[in-house]
Amino acid sequence: MRNGATAQSQPAFRRSTFLPFAAPSIGEAEIDAVVETLRGGWLTSGPRVREFEEAFASAVGVRHAVAVNSCTAALHLALDAVGVGPGDEVITTPMTFAASANVIVHLGAKPVFADIDPLTMNIDPPQIEWALGRCHRARAIVPVHFAGLACEMDAITGIAQRRELSVIEDAAHCFPTTYKDRLIGSIGDVTCFSFYATKTITTGEGGMATTDDPALADRMCTQRLHGMSRNAWMRYAESGTWRYDITAPGYKCNMPELAAALGLVQLSRAGELARRRRAIAGRYTQAFRDTAECLETPPNAQTNDEHSWHLYVIKLRLQALTIDRDRFIEELRAANIGTSVHFIPLHLQPYYRDTFGLTPEDFPQSTEVSERIISLPIYPGMSDGDVGDVIEAVTDVCRRHRR
Ligand SMILES: *Cc1c(COP(=O)(O)O)cnc(C)c1O
Repeated sequence: MRNGATAQSQPAFRRSTFLPFAAPSIGEAEIDAVVETLRGGWLTSGPRVREFEEAFASAVGVRHAVAVNSCTAALHLALDAVGVGPGDEVITTPMTFAASANVIVHLGAKPVFADIDPLTMNIDPPQIEWALGRCHRARAIVPVHFAGLACEMDAITGIAQRRELSVIEDAAHCFPTTYKDRLIGSIGDVTCFSFYATKTITTGEGGMATTDDPALADRMCTQRLHGMSRNAWMRYAESGTWRYDITAPGYKCNMPELAAALGLVQLSRAGELARRRRAIAGRYTQAFRDTAECLETPPNAQTNDEHSWHLYVIKLRLQALTIDRDRFIEELRAANIGTSVHFIPLHLQPYYRDTFGLTPEDFPQSTEVSERIISLPIYPGMSDGDVGDVIEAVTDVCRRHRR
């Protein structure tokens, strides 16, 4: 097909209104819960945070959940709790958001990247072994469950046990994801969830660290609020006492009561929200069989397991197209479809590239795939018509720019 001629003769598909890449699913119940909390008069961490922690821990099937104001904070507290400090090394993936590696740097440790499996885009266990071979003081592994598909946790925890490393999971994409019939949240030493505005359940901004280890939970509870032995609820409530001790120079990342009120309602809707995401992913994967020569669809979870479908990331087959990924995104934008890219790998980001002397060739799978990926809109608020528009727009761009 001659690209120039067809582009003129066939009018491109275009939606009448812009479809955003992501949008939160907020109903009247969420609004009522927040308003009721405002009227209640207690705004900082209090009984609703406690209730949210207990409900989340029980949903995941883990003993302790520590609510904080972001997943970034949860990762920071988790690494601090397992003792990561100056001079240590922590293995993670380059195919992630900056937060996963930034917190390692904040603790004075060095992030050491291990390349991905190009199919799942999750960290590749043999690459972890290879990276460990070049480490001197490795303390922890931070796997990231990309898009909401679980990493190979048996292999990862096996490596961690042999080498006495902690496993801190970045599960920002994964509520609810299962691995071998078990919900992500109770496998590693600590698992960190995000309730950022675009994530599968949201509190506006927020995060949760889950663990079965009471000592790690205690340390994270203290460190999320200045290292204080008693939080505000324990001090200012009727039965409270004003006295407290500072046991360590902690941080300030506790969850506000308003966020927990929102989170409790979102948690109660998590099953319904997840089903809608799964249905959209299923429709995309089915429809894109017709454009298989131009793009690859993302892998589903193993049979019996659940993918949370936080993201739906297609990979373009660039050799079959006359345009590159950036132009493909522009074409979708012209069709009024919002998209995003997850992620620009960290070894290509100026800070990590320059500080640790990394080149694109150091992580060839991440580098190669990063030029081909586009994240399509996937959220419960999309109508069937919206999903159809995305399919039509992607199919249309493929048709007009096929080699
Ligand atoms: C969103 C995200 C985070 C950070 O979550 P916040 O709650 O915004 O701090 C961390 N890791 C990954 C992989 C993410 O996508």
